[in-house]
Order: sequence, then structure tokens, then C-alpha cells
Amino acid sequence: MSSYCCPVCDYVYDERTGAPREGFPAGTPWSAIPEDWPCPDCGVREKSDFEGEEQESE
Ligand SMILES: [Zn+2]
Repeated sequence: MSSYCCPVCDYVYDERTGAPREGFPAGTPWSAIPEDWPCPDCGVREKSDFEGEEQESE
């Protein structure tokens, strides 16, 4: 599971928690998010602008 952060605001999409208020339940993979999905916090950036954060399993 990875998380992806908006380059404009501090919103982070985490695949483990999803974005229930956006209609994406916990566990929704990033690949399942529509390409034109806008950041729910700032609405400025879209999915393609998000920066992935690869998380190493410890
Ligand atoms: Zn944002």
C-alpha cells in the first residue's frame, strides 16, 4: 500500500484508509482512482499531479 500527496496542499491519499467521503472506501488502490479526480481539499490539482510516496514495509 502506498500514499500519495497533493503538491499544493497537505492532503494525502492513503490506499489503506481510502477517501470514504469521496466515495473511495478503505483499501481502494490508487490505480482505481479516476485520472480526473481532483484533490478534495484544494480542488486545484488532479490525480496526475499527486506525488507518490513509496512506503517500505518494516
Ligand atoms: Zn490539494
